[in-house]
Amino acid sequence: MTIFKKIIEGELPADVVFEDEHCLAFRDVNPQAPVHILVIPKKEIKSLADSKTADQELLGHLLAKCAQVARQLDLESQGYRVVTNTGRDGGQSVEHLHFHILGGRSLSWPPG
Ligand code: 5GP
Repeated sequence: MTIFKKIIEGELPADVVFEDEHCLAFRDVNPQAPVHILVIPKKEIKSLADSKTADQELLGHLLAKCAQVARQLDLESQGYRVVTNTGRDGGQSVEHLHFHILGGRSLSWPPG
């Protein structure tokens, strides 16, 4: 079972900022910006690459909730970044789909 599944099941604590029947948003334990949130589906999908056509509505929901959480945390006026690391070269370390919301500072581009 992944760390994120344990958080969904309530077996591991997390600083939750938003939850609904489809997803959970909580603060990253190792923040890379003043605001660093992870938005994850409750459904177990390993990565964006592993998502199916049937997941399209859920993927849209997750992105919409990223925008809602960013607004809730006052990131909208200054801007923010949403990113999903996918696979080895993408830098993915937890095999449960997640969107990072990063904000609260000016972010450089391109990423390393
Ligand atoms: P990835 O590297 O897969 O894109 O992102 C995984 C993220 O999960 C990392 O930013 C890491 O800090 C975060 N993370 C790993 N374990 C935990 C945990 O137990 N709790 C929380 N809140 N975040 C975690």
